[in-house]
Amino acid sequence: MQLELPLAIAPVTLPAGTLRYIQLGSEIVGYRFRRARRRSIGIMIDDDGLRVAAPNHAPIAEVEAFLREKARWVLKKLSEWRAAPKPPVVDWSDGSSLALLGTSVTIALVPGERGISLENGRLGIGLVPRPEPAALRKRAIAWIKEQARARLGERLTLYAARLGVPTPRLSLSSARTQWGLCREDGHVRLNWRLIHLPLHLVDYVVAHELAHLREMNHSARFWTVVGGLYPDYKQARIELRHCNHRLPIL
Ligand SMILES: [Zn+2]
Repeated sequence: MQLELPLAIAPVTLPAGTLRYIQLGSEIVGYRFRRARRRSIGIMIDDDGLRVAAPNHAPIAEVEAFLREKARWVLKKLSEWRAAPKPPVVDWSDGSSLALLGTSVTIALVPGERGISLENGRLGIGLVPRPEPAALRKRAIAWIKEQARARLGERLTLYAARLGVPTPRLSLSSARTQWGLCREDGHVRLNWRLIHLPLHLVDYVVAHELAHLREMNHSARFWTVVGGLYPDYKQARIELRHCNHRLPIL
């Protein structure tokens, strides 16, 4: 058994399924369509727009009739989706920025230098050995993951001590769908993307997963344990729900 702390919406979803179009009212709406083992037609708006899943046996005419029936809902949700802030895309050029621990840091490409450093809000990335954007990105992401491991490990140790348990084994996840996870064997997985968020939200996720070592559920008893470790957890839960839209795409 394991418990997940889901992101409200996955920050990035790769387009899946076939692209189809339908006229709803005066709009031509594109959607990604896939067949699935399910009983009914499902529609949702994710980061890439409208997504439709239909049972294997449902004729496409039935799918389209369903979409027309739900046209008002679909058009309303799509206009909200278009108006919603999109996560920033980091392009790794000199002067571009990204969030680390809730503050914006500016990327500075440094000729003749090797290595990466963070100082006074400046993320210096050496152009040695390879200055190509793809190579810089790869090195920078590896460095950010290292920082995440160090920082998350530090917070885990701190909160484990507060809970009075040995520091659990930590692994990093890159999951698109969850912030953290605690397994019954005491192993904790934390999403390295937490490194983009302010420390108080990192701490909430850490406290949440650690509390599962006492209560492997989301019962009232569980939330009492969380509250003992992290009193302001209700506020943090609300904030965390709005964070996935701001996670940069590296
Ligand atoms: Zn949980």
